[in-house]
Amino acid sequence: MTKPTESQAGGCHLEHLATAPLPTRFGTFELHVYRWDDPKADPSLSDEHLALVMGDVRGERAVAVRVHSECLTSEVFASLKCDCKGQLERAQAEVARRGRGVILYLRQEGRGIGLANKIRAYALQAEGADTIEANQRLHLPVDARQYDVAAAILRELGVESVVLMTNNPAKVDALSALGISVTERLPMLVAANPFSQSYLEVKKKKMRHELPSGVFNQKPPEPEHPDDTESPDPAAAH
Ligand SMILES: [Zn+2]
Repeated sequence: MTKPTESQAGGCHLEHLATAPLPTRFGTFELHVYRWDDPKADPSLSDEHLALVMGDVRGERAVAVRVHSECLTSEVFASLKCDCKGQLERAQAEVARRGRGVILYLRQEGRGIGLANKIRAYALQAEGADTIEANQRLHLPVDARQYDVAAAILRELGVESVVLMTNNPAKVDALSALGISVTERLPMLVAANPFSQSYLEVKKKKMRHELPSGVFNQKPPEPEHPDDTESPDPAAAH
């Protein structure tokens, strides 16, 4: 058992709660659970954040890192409305390919507005609003995500510099502003489907995500059936 460690940053407090090996389809990661006490945090969001670590990262440079925010609808229910689960799985596969890396899983559902508000926004999107307009109509921020916990965990893990797995240049800027050295951005591209196409177009046009045209105009995915004997290819579903 590893010794609990604690660190302080700007009135916030990071506590390491637990760790254990986690075998996955992509290989075995070390799963760490942290608690992040932030007096300004939205109390409807969990304060327990996760790090999936593979290989030796302490003191290492150019470590592949994904800073991923929770998306229950895609990750648990295979929702086709977004590319979150596809990006998470691509990041796990990339870390496994390199034999070293970190995936941070932050509990800021719905770009930080929480699950119920995200589903309220989905209801407005079903009536034709895009993801930004829906949040604005609910008087909610378009993107309320914070990355200070990500920076604190990377420091706790001793990562010297990161190759950030993201399509979002603003995430590179946010982590850099928090003192994390980002040496490179590695795109995590997931093909659009008819349900995610307009969402990804908004991400590209209004949120400045770097999404090449090849992501769009893909064929619709085949529905998966529970009696299929072969395990479905996760990449093909997105
Ligand atoms: Zn999502």
